Amino acid sequence: MMTASLNQSRAVPFPHIPEALRRQYSIEPLYLGSLGQSPEALEIDFCMPQRPLLETQILSCCTKNSHGEAPEPDFFWDLSVGTRTFCMLIIAALGAESSPLPIDLRCPNRSCGEELEMGLSLDDIFRLPAGNNGDGRVEVSVAAGPISFRLPRGRDQLAWQQGFFADEMIAARAMIKTLAIGEYGSKLEESLSDDEVRDIGKTLAATDSLVDFKLHATCPECQEDGVHRLDLGTLAFRHLRQSQARLLNSVHLLASHYHWTEKEILAVPSWRRNHYLSLLENGDG
Ligand SMILES: [Zn+2]
Repeated sequence: MMTASLNQSRAVPFPHIPEALRRQYSIEPLYLGSLGQSPEALEIDFCMPQRPLLETQILSCCTKNSHGEAPEPDFFWDLSVGTRTFCMLIIAALGAESSPLPIDLRCPNRSCGEELEMGLSLDDIFRLPAGNNGDGRVEVSVAAGPISFRLPRGRDQLAWQQGFFADEMIAARAMIKTLAIGEYGSKLEESLSDDEVRDIGKTLAATDSLVDFKLHATCPECQEDGVHRLDLGTLAFRHLRQSQARLLNSVHLLASHYHWTEKEILAVPSWRRNHYLSLLENGDG
């Protein structure tokens, strides 16, 4: 079975980067490419339990400036969780075997249960609202007054995952303390009731529309309208994992035939790799 991807030599501009971040890391125009285009793609261990670490590794691998250099990892840690997920989706779509990125859903009508085949194209991804919220703020009103929050970043997510919290309430309070803007907000955290903490948690979670994404679909079989909740971050991971598996297959085929090393194969640009693979597929090798 041949596994070459049609999309592997495409690159698209990196989504909006907040001005402060751009200056802090002296960021030049950046581009996102597929996992298969990156020589470091095989270094990624998809079994790594902490998703933020894996995500930063993938983002570093697939983001380059016009000289082919990646920004330092700290830049990716400072991106909002929404922007990181958005980039992961773009990288997944660029390297997908078929376009649009397939999404498998099932009709919610129990007596039907028809499989619904939906897809997310690159254009659909660029129209997602989370692509624009890179430097946004969220304001939540509580009894003591309004509190402003910044959006969670990759490094916040990692710290929360690595921290130990005895229960969800303690974890939610820690999150509020980190994200509240200014001393006023973090002091206020101590006076918040548990209900207020829950409300703030819900509001903050709702700002990341990629984690709790809702897709409307009508079943072609029974015409039932359904709202499907999708975790687009998880969807991107699943496809990226498949991209790496296809890349491993390609390395195996080329190594078996041409006796090149893994390093030599990955140094060949993906368009040329795909060409060799298609020759082997057609029996011309
Ligand atoms: Zn149905």
